[in-house]
Amino acid sequence: MEIMFLMSNCRTGCATQNHDSWGECARNANISTANMQIALVSRGTDAELGAYRDARKQGIQPASTKMHDVIAATRASDKLGRAVQA
Ligand SMILES: [Zn+2]
Repeated sequence: MEIMFLMSNCRTGCATQNHDSWGECARNANISTANMQIALVSRGTDAELGAYRDARKQGIQPASTKMHDVIAATRASDKLGRAVQA
């Protein structure tokens, strides 16, 4: 089990750390991207900062704390299969 953790391709924020690749792990988290957009509509700035912190936990560095930058960086990371540093 310890070796599995060392070999993990998962994002640092992944709860299960059991995905075969970073991309698979990120795809699994796609639903949280949708949640970010819903949160933006309902909660504004607090949601932006929360989404930004979530992205940073996954090793993603958005261009800013603005929601569109956070979502863009998360989507780019999904496409590339690795955490994007904007
Ligand atoms: Zn994972």
